Amino acid sequence: MPQLLEVTDLHVTYTTDAGPVQAVAGLDLRVGAGEVVGLVGESGCGKSATALSIMALLPRNVGRVTGGSIALNGVDLVRERESALRRVRGRDVAMVFQDPMTSLNPAYTVGDQLGEPLRTHLGMSRDEAARRARELLDEVGIPQAARVAGDYPHQLSGGMRQRVVIAMAMACRPKLLIADEATTALDVTIQAQILDLLRELQQESGMGLLLISHDLGVVASTCDRVAVMYAGRMVEEAGVAKLFAHPAHPYTRGLLDSIPRLDDERARLASIPGQVPAPGQTPAGCRFSSRCSHVADRCREREPGLVALGGGQASRCWLSLDEVEAR
Ligand code: ADP
Ligand code: MG
Repeated sequence: MPQLLEVTDLHVTYTTDAGPVQAVAGLDLRVGAGEVVGLVGESGCGKSATALSIMALLPRNVGRVTGGSIALNGVDLVRERESALRRVRGRDVAMVFQDPMTSLNPAYTVGDQLGEPLRTHLGMSRDEAARRARELLDEVGIPQAARVAGDYPHQLSGGMRQRVVIAMAMACRPKLLIADEATTALDVTIQAQILDLLRELQQESGMGLLLISHDLGVVASTCDRVAVMYAGRMVEEAGVAKLFAHPAHPYTRGLLDSIPRLDDERARLASIPGQVPAPGQTPAGCRFSSRCSHVADRCREREPGLVALGGGQASRCWLSLDEVEAR
């Protein structure tokens, strides 16, 4: 049986004034039905490019899938026609963005916007769609759903707007939901509530959830499995408990050290020195070699492959897990 989502050797290229840049360079990623997978990495690693490719929402004439395949239930979306993709998008796979206003139209009430996909994708009548819209608002924990349905987006708080967007994404009961930095703009308490909501909806519906964040802390409590991305490539993948207990890649360890901890008295958090190299400026060999504290000559010469370490963990590093842990 094919997995719900199977991304294989994905390459995404953006056309810029300075020439083509490769935002994703050979990514393999899987999400099973009912599975919650975190996609983590600093800003600029290619997480959104990956999400937009899955949604077929790369900016027209600028971003393009230049290699690989994206199979949803065995059907390769990269080779589908635009008309077929429109049916898939919103129905089989839906996405929640960081800024709810990118998905909400300020000129329409919340109820009207929620009703729209129900009418176009599910063929509901206006009345049916309005009733279902109120139910959906209720399901995402919005109090007084009937009143909020008549509100315009600007009348709601940021957290409430994100709940509305999640309700829109859930409207057609997608098989896969992609949340790209969906809680990043919210304060910590609201962020936790939205993450709880996503997990709850996921468990009730059995859908797959791809939770994208620059913050490993965000995925910690929500995900089953985590994929760590660096400069367009996956550098580590593991079950969430394994990843936190025995991170194998020096980049993952750096990200973990940057998470604030309640039991930690250190005034300043360790952060990884330097920045994600811009596409086109990735170093030879391992892409992380220019920032890695364990770097050796071989790292600058040849890029390691993704090596399976057992127990579902894999890491793209020349060092073994024992060697990394010994340092
Ligand atoms: P992330 O979501 O992990 O922060 P992105 O996928 O947004 O990263 O970006 C990956 C790379 O692609 C970055 O180097 C970024 O500068 C580049 N990029 C993203 N969007 C565009 C665009 N519209 N035009 C040109 N380059 C882009
Ligand atoms: Mg992004």
